[in-house]
Amino acid sequence: MDCTIIPETQHQMFEYLKSINCCLSCCTRFIGTESSEYFRNLMSDSKLLNDTLKDANASDNVPCIVCLGILQHDIQQQTLKQIIDSVNSSGFDSPTFTCNLSIPASLNLRERYIYISLTQKFNLSKDQLCYLKLRTQNIKEVWKMQMLSAVEAGILKQQISGAIPSLFSIDITYDHANDQEDCQKFTESYIKNVESKNSKHRNNIYSRNNIEKLLNNIEDDEFMKYFSLSSGHVTIGKISCFHRGIFIGGRYKKLSRHLSQTPWYINGEKKMETSVQDLLCNHIVKYTNSDTLKFLSSGREDVDVRTINRGRPFAVELINPKVTIITAEKLAEIVNEINASTKLVEITSGLKFLCSGDLQKLKEGENIKTKCYRALCILRHKSKDDINLEQLSNMKNIKIIQKTPIRVLHRRPLTPRTRLLREMRARWLTIEEIKTARELFSESRIDHNLLNHLFVFDIKTQAGTYVKEFVHGDFGRTRPNLSDILGAEVDIVALDVTAVNIEWP
Ligand SMILES: [Zn+2]
Repeated sequence: MDCTIIPETQHQMFEYLKSINCCLSCCTRFIGTESSEYFRNLMSDSKLLNDTLKDANASDNVPCIVCLGILQHDIQQQTLKQIIDSVNSSGFDSPTFTCNLSIPASLNLRERYIYISLTQKFNLSKDQLCYLKLRTQNIKEVWKMQMLSAVEAGILKQQISGAIPSLFSIDITYDHANDQEDCQKFTESYIKNVESKNSKHRNNIYSRNNIEKLLNNIEDDEFMKYFSLSSGHVTIGKISCFHRGIFIGGRYKKLSRHLSQTPWYINGEKKMETSVQDLLCNHIVKYTNSDTLKFLSSGREDVDVRTINRGRPFAVELINPKVTIITAEKLAEIVNEINASTKLVEITSGLKFLCSGDLQKLKEGENIKTKCYRALCILRHKSKDDINLEQLSNMKNIKIIQKTPIRVLHRRPLTPRTRLLREMRARWLTIEEIKTARELFSESRIDHNLLNHLFVFDIKTQAGTYVKEFVHGDFGRTRPNLSDILGAEVDIVALDVTAVNIEWP
């Protein structure tokens, strides 16, 4: 059976649609015209338009009962102007964009009305209707055919949609004053009359999903009984621009023992003046004019722990950045600015743009990779001569079990964890080092007579090991611990992270 519609019928359909106040674009859509060139040229004087169409084009300003003006010249020109104003004043430097349209929910009902009317008026068969529906261009697609090249020219950016759309999106919302009321009236009267015992549409009955569900279930004659919608043009809502997050990363040293990694708030009050995150990221956020940021790092150090040598890998996700085209020279300049602005942290690598594979590596690094630490420890209540530090060098791949440390009990679950200590070694401080230590700790809790009981302890261990607890034992919650192994009470005076062993950035 033939499901095509002959040109003469198409022509009559066009005239009919026009007579019930469909706009030119909608008339053209609903007779099954697919050619995008045709839609593009509808908006201008073109050789494609015959005389009838030209007349119609001139008077195409009655609000269309289907698209409510979304595909009509006046609304499109206003939209174009608003898009250009919004984008050009917003400062986004992305060379590409993608457009998202949000349209009133009643458009679904309006399109259904058109299909039913055409079927009844022109006695279309099921196959013909199917064919017609298949060929009818979606309103958003037609809008894009008609608008995108003008938008591209107006904002000097290239449209990229498809599988990998641009990270920069322009969201356009069309509202219709009576949309909710129209949908509500329709669904309510339908439910009252047809589905009074069935409550499945009762929740949030005006939602787009519910209207689609309802349209799938309702018969044509039922639909026509309850269909009555208001007319008028749509209004253009706020045009919103958003750039998806971009990631920049590097490595940092933390040189202070009085600095938390992230801003520390208690009851909304900032507890420390600054943080690693603030010092590293504020410049980057400011330069890129981002709304805010998310700080990511391979593990974190305590307030009193330094990270030295090559430093700790970190990344920052910039949320809604305006400036995203940054040259290598500019990145280097930002690094210099950050490093010149503080003595508390230092970026030790260059900054680099990251992809999602990089971020995966950062996350995995938290569990898989090894870290190296250097601790300054002190021997208590025992003579140096009774202690054999050299034995530690022979201990490889020692398994320890750590119950959650008392100091983090309030934020971690109570599960004992097994950790693997790869290697360790220790040595007493040299005379020179003792001198330095005396100055370093002149004001702290160290008993000065104990200074020559200080030793340096180096350990390479599985990421996630609580090193402080391994040293002092945490009241027996970590077993075995360094105190067990040495057979003497040992305390930790200071801790440095000396290496975070992942390839980064
Ligand atoms: Zn229309």
